[in-house]
Order: sequence, then C-alpha cells, then structure tokens
Amino acid sequence: MAAREDFPGRYQFFDVVQTYVDDAAELSGLPTYLRRILPAPQNEILVHFPVRMDDQEVRVFKGYRIQHNNILGPYKGGLRCHPQAGLDDFKALASLMTWKCSLIGVPFGGAKGGIKYDPTQHSPAENERIMRRFIHSLGTNIGPDTDIPAPDVGTGEQTMAWAMDTYVNTQGRNGNQANRGVVTGKPVCVGGTPGRTKATGQGVVHCILDWAERNAFELEGKKLMVQGFGNVGSHTAVLLGQMGVSLVAVGDHTGYLYNPEGFNAYRLQEYVRKQGSISGYPNGDVITREEFFAVSADIFVPAALENQVGQEEARALKVRLVAEGANGPCTPEGEKVLADRSIEVLPDVLANAGGVTVSYYEWVQNRRSETWSLSDVERRLESQMRQGSKLMYDLAHRYGCSYRLACYVAALERLKVVYETRGIFP
Ligand code: NAD
Repeated sequence: MAAREDFPGRYQFFDVVQTYVDDAAELSGLPTYLRRILPAPQNEILVHFPVRMDDQEVRVFKGYRIQHNNILGPYKGGLRCHPQAGLDDFKALASLMTWKCSLIGVPFGGAKGGIKYDPTQHSPAENERIMRRFIHSLGTNIGPDTDIPAPDVGTGEQTMAWAMDTYVNTQGRNGNQANRGVVTGKPVCVGGTPGRTKATGQGVVHCILDWAERNAFELEGKKLMVQGFGNVGSHTAVLLGQMGVSLVAVGDHTGYLYNPEGFNAYRLQEYVRKQGSISGYPNGDVITREEFFAVSADIFVPAALENQVGQEEARALKVRLVAEGANGPCTPEGEKVLADRSIEVLPDVLANAGGVTVSYYEWVQNRRSETWSLSDVERRLESQMRQGSKLMYDLAHRYGCSYRLACYVAALERLKVVYETRGIFP
C-alpha cells in the first residue's frame, strides 16, 4: 500500500480511507462537487503546550484536533493519546467519524484529536495536567454545540472527567451544567450515561449477532480471538462470553496469550484494569504475534490499532468472521485476501459505531438534564445498530459490493441529500 516518498514505510491511513470514499462515490454516482468537498477536513488544529512534570521540569506537548465535516451536526470524535499518533491518522480517524455518524443516523459530524505522547509512561498527576492543559489550549474550538470529544486509545472515563471539568471552569460561567456536554464518555456521577463504557463493545456484539442470525451461525460454543484488550476488546469479549463464546487467544501492546480451554474474559478484564495490560496473566501460554494470527478460531475481533491485518495476517487467520472493533485494522490488501478466502468482514464504520451512538444519548441527556436507565440506553442502541446493519446488507445486495463499500455508500447518500437540501453558501 502507498507509502509516501516523504515518509517511506509509513502506513497512509488517510489515503486508505479516501480510497474507500472514492470507490463508494463512483458506485453511487456522487456529484462531482461533493467529491471535491468531502475529502478535505474543514479545520486542522495543531497546538503546542507546556506542562510541568512531577520532577519540576517543563515539557512541551503536541496536540491535534481535526474537524472533518459538520454538515450533519457538531463535530464529534475521540481523543487519542499515543506516541505514534500523527496528523495523517487523525485526519483518517476524523473522516471515519463523519461516515460513521452519517451511516448510523447520529446527528453529529466527524472529528478526532489527541496528544502525541504515551500516557502509560506518566503518573496520574502528570496525565491530568497534560489533558487539562490540552483542553485549555483548544479553547473555544471545542464546546457542546461545536465539537464534542470522547475517549479513544489511551484515554477513558477519568480523562473525560478532567476534560469536562477544565472546559466548564474556563469557558463561560462556572456551573453551567449544560457545558458538561462538551465531552462524552464521562463517569456517570459527573454527567455520563449508563451503558457508555461498554457501548462500543456492545455495538460490535449486536453486529456479530445480526450477522450470525443471517448466516444461521450458532454462536454458543464458538471460539473468539481478540487483539487489543482495552475498552472495546475487553467489553466485546465479556459480552460474547455471556453468550457462550470462548476467548481462546488475546493480545495487547505487551504480547499475546493462548488458552484452548478459554479465558474468563471478565477476570482478565479485572486483571487488566489493575495491572494495565495482559502481561503476567497466569491462565494462558505466551505466544508470538505470528502464532496468534494462526490460532484456529471462529471470530476475530481486532480492537487495537489500524494497519494490523495485512496480507500475511489475512493469509494466516483461521476464522469465519472478522468484526472490526478498532478503526482501520484491516488494510485493503489484507481485506482482499480475506475476501478471496471467504472470510467475511464487518467493517469499522458500522461495527464500532455503538460508541458514538451512546455518546449521542449522553449528550442529549446533558442538554435536557435527564438521566436515562441502562435498559433504555441498551434498547435504543440495539435498535439503532440493527437499522445500521440492515442498511449495510441491503446496499451490499443492491450494489453487489463489499459490506465496507455498502456502509460508505449509505453514508455518502445521506450526506448528499443534506448538501442538496441546504445548498452551498453563499
Ligand atoms: P484502549 O486504549 O482502551 O485499548 C487499546 C488496546 O490496544 C490496549 O489493550 C492496548 O494494549 C492495545 N494495543 C495498543 N497497541 C497495540 C499493538 N501494537 N499491538 C497489539 N495491541 C495493541 O482503546 P479503545 O478505546 O479500546 O480503542 C481501541 C480501538 O477501538 C481504536 O482503534 C479506537 O479508535 C477504536 N474505537 C474506540 C471506541 C471507544 O469508545 N473507546 C469507539 C470506536 C472505536
């Protein structure tokens, strides 16, 4: 896949996503003016900000916020803290949010951002100061009516609480409770919603269930492998475990583990919560990344980072289904190998849309000062994920295309109607 001359070897994630958009635009006959408008992010915000470390040294950090498109509603998307994160990834991830929100029918636009650093190498106090200073640097570029961040890799509920508190204290009058809607994925006690923490994993599970029903595939007794055991991966494994699906192989940034008898996903989740990774978990054999991809199983959920399933991994996989919990885990070349081997792929734009869907419910509750019950959130999420799935299968059938392209066609068609109705200013 394209590695640019100026950065040899680097995976060009934005180009990959753009190729899907181009293919879907061709398939659905998208007007030329929209093919010109939609690729470019509307705003690319870069900030550098100083933070005092625990040892009193001052370090300067680099932060990003890419606002891709807001024709459907306020910009929306996660904050990623990772040492390898860069402009290209954030542009790709921001545009993915636009297609995801459009596909699933959430009235938000697409954005993504974060900080180029490794939070695991810092104390909680340093991480707090770094996040607060980043949110302060973004100033009025974010807000409950303009751009609403959420958790992603390297961030979570606690980070969102700090982000919200910083915004509420620095923008407008302190105590304006509606300002809590500036971020989603907050702890419930400070304006979060029941069901948000597991929402992305829950959405992945709804997609797998829907697929299983359509393919007369009995889930009970099947084997699962998961790469990335953070928020998305662990909740997916726990929820599938409750349906009798056995987690036989798991991996994260520290390595990979195998247990043919199946891990107790809930206990492993508790272990990771305390220890920070799967490293040292006693009930499995350590295996290599290569051995992980060659494990015999039924379902693979990549839930770590992009660019994980290339041709080699796709040739090694022995599963029937890949459900993309992560954004962009399969490369186009890897996906082609999977298709040739009749391994189906439930694409990220649909499969992990449960997170932004429940984020929307949280935002609505903040605006209305309401608190919904967990069962209410779960019922709405299931209905919205099922509608998204149906749209994907219908369009894949109509256009004779992959599930991924069907999702992009659905997203572009909704955007087209809105652009045509609103017109181009002035
Ligand atoms: P997280 O930080 O909670 O977990 C990330 C996991 O990936 C960790 O287990 C980490 O160890 C692992 N990992 C990191 N680098 C790795 C590597 N090189 N090899 C193997 N494992 C590695 O993050 P998350 O929120 O669960 O996000 C995971 C993916 O899901 C990302 O692609 C993210 O964009 C996507 N996503 C997240 C949400 C959400 O609500 N959190 C929503 C939609 C999509």
